[in-house]
Amino acid sequence: MLQNVPGKIWLFDYDLTLYGEEERCVINSLDHRISLFVQKTVGGDFKSAHKIRTDYLERFGTTLAGLMAMNQVDPDEFFDFIHQPEYLIYPKKAPKKLKLLQSLEGPRFVFTNGRHDWSEAGMAHMGIDSAIDGVLDLKQLGWVGKPHDSAYQKMEHWLSEKLPSMGRSMPKDSHDIILLEDSLRNLEPAHRRGWTTVYVNPESDVPDWVDYHISHLLELPTILEIFEN
Ligand SMILES: [Mg+2]
Repeated sequence: MLQNVPGKIWLFDYDLTLYGEEERCVINSLDHRISLFVQKTVGGDFKSAHKIRTDYLERFGTTLAGLMAMNQVDPDEFFDFIHQPEYLIYPKKAPKKLKLLQSLEGPRFVFTNGRHDWSEAGMAHMGIDSAIDGVLDLKQLGWVGKPHDSAYQKMEHWLSEKLPSMGRSMPKDSHDIILLEDSLRNLEPAHRRGWTTVYVNPESDVPDWVDYHISHLLELPTILEIFEN
């Protein structure tokens, strides 16, 4: 069981982790904007833009990385275009998630491959923003996100600067850093660093190295050992 005690650091991926698979329309609305941005950048029709997107995704890990390498795209320009709220769907109010997050001992942060304004707007819609102590986003990661090792190194460095300002200290045992993620690819480097990994995904095929598996964020209490004082 995962101990819910002070001294633990809770890190949450945003997309498809803080909001789940049942709200895939949220990420789909963003994906549509990404394809439109590719079309605007490379020209041609929507279908071929979508093809280029898939190709970039495979070759560079993300569409943005491909656009930066192949089309010299400015990442802020990319995010300004895809984050226009009138075209996007946001997750629904989530009072149960708010309660759950508030019940976790220790600080809670978001660790995301998006730009911070996307997760911040989504968390405000969900009404859970007050339970999150900060966001480390792709911009702060120098536009090189998970699963690159540099992202996890930067997260540790960020925590070591952030925690003292909250009257907390960096955990001595890296196992006290807990990452909740829907992507195995992004969990693996965390596992290699000795962080505790929680795979949040309805998928039933789970590799042995994963510490905990839940199919949805709201199942977290099922793996949580709570100490009452
Ligand atoms: Mg995700």
